[in-house]
Amino acid sequence: MPIKITDLEYVYGAGTPFAKHALKNINLTIEDGEFWGVIGHTGSGKSTLFSHLNALTRIQRGTIEIDEFKMVGNGGKKLKRKNRPDFKALRARVGMVFQYPEYQLFAETVAEDVAFGAKNVGIKGEELDGRVRAAIQTVGLDYNEVKDRSPFDLSGGQKRRVALAGVLAMHPKILVLDEPTAGLDPRGKKEILDLILRVKKELCHTVIMISHNMDEVARYCDKIAVMADGELKLTSTPAELFTQTDLLQSLHIEMPAVTALACELNARGCNVSRAVLTEEQLVQEILRAKGVAT
Ligand code: ADP
Repeated sequence: MPIKITDLEYVYGAGTPFAKHALKNINLTIEDGEFWGVIGHTGSGKSTLFSHLNALTRIQRGTIEIDEFKMVGNGGKKLKRKNRPDFKALRARVGMVFQYPEYQLFAETVAEDVAFGAKNVGIKGEELDGRVRAAIQTVGLDYNEVKDRSPFDLSGGQKRRVALAGVLAMHPKILVLDEPTAGLDPRGKKEILDLILRVKKELCHTVIMISHNMDEVARYCDKIAVMADGELKLTSTPAELFTQTDLLQSLHIEMPAVTALACELNARGCNVSRAVLTEEQLVQEILRAKGVAT
């Protein structure tokens, strides 16, 4: 069973002069195994929407179904038992990686930090140790080298990996990441994204990534959701979305740099397709246009 969000509404400060209608009638289905990119300007409702998935934000109106879990809004009141899933189990199923997750590291050692979330959902003993070791290795760190070190002594990129390992140790089936590459240099960005892709193959089958970087979502995601002003404006594949110049303009969305370059070459008479989403595709197109066999 996928993630199914039906008629979801959310108002901050409801009933006060500062009420903010942050989500308006959201309907979205995410199938198992998909990699979604979620784009939209700051304040468009992305974080509010996805913090519902592990019940960090209490559902007010609408319904959210995730596998066997179901949450039904109750006007913002505490959910009645029959409308409330087992939150611990839900939080183990849906792993959340917040923006700059390294700021939330706190334990004395890397191993303790990585163990924290899994421990909280009831994992202990050898099972816990095994998960911690595996998660640290999955994120590309040497377990023996880092396990007893303070997370604060690591580099920025390593800290972010430790934070991700802490979520992976809970064995989530669904991974939600809020701008996982924010603040990293180009190499660090690519390493984290390649890591997420590997994690998707090996551990969490479904990934949802909030991003402001169109090149990233074009390259890595199967589907894109566009949020604006609390509404889900559209869902699309990257290829469909990024080739519609007028639509992009009306939604104030930039093209990926590589697609913009292909459009420019095309406009200047080079016979390349405008539907390219990665550097490799553009190289292929240029070689094809020049009649160079590849
Ligand atoms: P995004 O993740 O796309 O930046 P958010 O979900 O954070 O958007 O915010 C959606 C809207 O809700 C914005 O107008 C924001 O100012 C408002 N908002 C977010 N969090 C709060 C809060 N705790 N209290 C009041 N308003 C909030």
